Amino acid sequence: MAFSYAPRVRRFSSAADVVNFIVASADSPLIALAVRHLTITLHHPIAPQALQQCLSITPNVEDLILFLPPNPPGDILDDVHLPRLQLFKTNLPHQSLLHFLPTHDSLTDLCLGACGRGAEEDSCLLCVLDLMGIVVAECPVSCIRAVAHPTLFRLTGEIDRQSLPNGPAILRSIHAPLASLHALTLDFYPGDYDILQFLVRVVPQLQKLKLLERPGTYHRENHTRRAWNDAARWFASLLQLQWLEELAIRTASSITWSSKGVDREGKTLMRWVARSPRAAKRNARAIEHPALTSLRLWYRTREPAGGILTYWSKSSGVWKNILRATPPPQDTFF
Ligand SMILES: [Zn+2]
Repeated sequence: MAFSYAPRVRRFSSAADVVNFIVASADSPLIALAVRHLTITLHHPIAPQALQQCLSITPNVEDLILFLPPNPPGDILDDVHLPRLQLFKTNLPHQSLLHFLPTHDSLTDLCLGACGRGAEEDSCLLCVLDLMGIVVAECPVSCIRAVAHPTLFRLTGEIDRQSLPNGPAILRSIHAPLASLHALTLDFYPGDYDILQFLVRVVPQLQKLKLLERPGTYHRENHTRRAWNDAARWFASLLQLQWLEELAIRTASSITWSSKGVDREGKTLMRWVARSPRAAKRNARAIEHPALTSLRLWYRTREPAGGILTYWSKSSGVWKNILRATPPPQDTFF
């Protein structure tokens, strides 16, 4: 088989797939050398030697997605080297990556699953690594301190078991601003009332922000209250994120009580992006956010089918509602 005709994309979903590939490549090594994008998703354990051999004969892999069953050997990747690797997505415990990550300087996109550290361990073991080459990262919130660094461009932080019950409170211990961070997707709890103040301090240059609410079991005493209920404070914090262009929020609270309340919704949201005329008279400072042009919200109403996806845009110069779905279609991606 000619090198140029061998598939560049390979997906293996069983140990047998992996072994068959190794056998086929023994006859025609070019089959393995052609692979650029490799996905291995296994639901049953594989012999470590088979996995390691598969990765050793595919040195041109640029994207590796590797999902293994729980409790793989801790050293399963220790002797693996993929010199062209740019994207790595895996569910391996972070401890298993301590040798692998430092030997892959070409890596720019890193997507990690649960940390897997013991309950007695305060911090993620990856904190000992220099991950300055990573520009796009996705990891549990409790590991952001270990993964985030000042040159990171895009970050997604998901609340995990180890984040409970603190959630984004863990992030408050990040001391150095993530000055290059351009886009942030962050899970939060209903009771994270000061989440914007935290972001002002840590990611002042942020341009795209997506906040995804997770059910909070720790703040039941005030389940309808959210940070944006104090609109003046919410606006003041958004104003400090002066480069912010796009804000998206998914929440189980209500912005308006009825799906028909587009006017009421608009009035509420306009208090997020501009000082009210009455308040503006008392305060001569900027009355409108300088950069925000997009607001996307997914929120609940009290109606039985109660959910709204709404999108407001200022791309024409004035704020307009340009999409409203009630309820949002099942397959809507947010
Ligand atoms: Zn970790």
